[in-house]
Amino acid sequence: MVGAQRPLNQEGDGIVAVKITRWEPDTCYCVLEYSWDDALPESERTHSVSRIVRTCPVHTGEPTAEGHYNTVLSENQHKNSALAFIRAKAPAARVDWRFDDNRNLHVQLNGLDQAAAESIQQAVAARFPARTTRITSSPATDSDNGELGHRKPRGELASLQIQGGSVKCVRAKIPNSKEQIEEWILRSAIRAADQRGISLYDWQPSR
Ligand SMILES: [Zn+2]
Repeated sequence: MVGAQRPLNQEGDGIVAVKITRWEPDTCYCVLEYSWDDALPESERTHSVSRIVRTCPVHTGEPTAEGHYNTVLSENQHKNSALAFIRAKAPAARVDWRFDDNRNLHVQLNGLDQAAAESIQQAVAARFPARTTRITSSPATDSDNGELGHRKPRGELASLQIQGGSVKCVRAKIPNSKEQIEEWILRSAIRAADQRGISLYDWQPSR
C-alpha cells in the first residue's frame, strides 16, 4: 500500500496527503522511513515502511522492508513499554538498558536491592510474556546520592614504622598521573628485585 496507488510527497502540497517520516530508533543503528496518511485522524493512521535508509549489523538478515520495519518497531516499542512499566515500579532507581546479541532487553536498575529487582523481573515477565527481559540491579552507592563515590584517591598515604621502640610516621604522596603510577610500579619492582639480591642489569633468563 506504500506509494503504489498515490505518489509520495515529503511535505504535502495539498494534493497528496501521504507524508514520510525518517526514523532513527534508539534501539539499533537502522534508519527507516515510513509513510502515513495526513488526511486520516491520528487514531486511524497506520504507518507503513517506505524505505530502508540504512541497515544496522543486527538487522541485515531481514528479507523484506516490511519485516525489517516491524522487527525494529517491535523492539523499540517493547523497550519503551518495558522501561515505562519498570520506571513506574522503581521510580527512584537509575535505569540503564541495552539489547544483547539475541535482541533481548537487559535493564540494569541502580540503587535497588536484589529482592526488589527479582520482584520487578517477575512482574515484567508476566506483563510482557512474549519477550525475554532481564533485570539486574546494583544497590545504592554513595555516588548515586551525589556524595563521595569511588573516585581515585588523592593526597598522601601515611604508615607507621615501629623499629626498636621508636615509631616513625612515613608519608608518601599518592601518584596522580599515569606516568607517576608507572614510575611507582617500576620503582617498587626494582626495589623488590634489589631486596632479593637480583641485579637487573646482569639478569639472564634461566635456561
Ligand atoms: Zn537495526
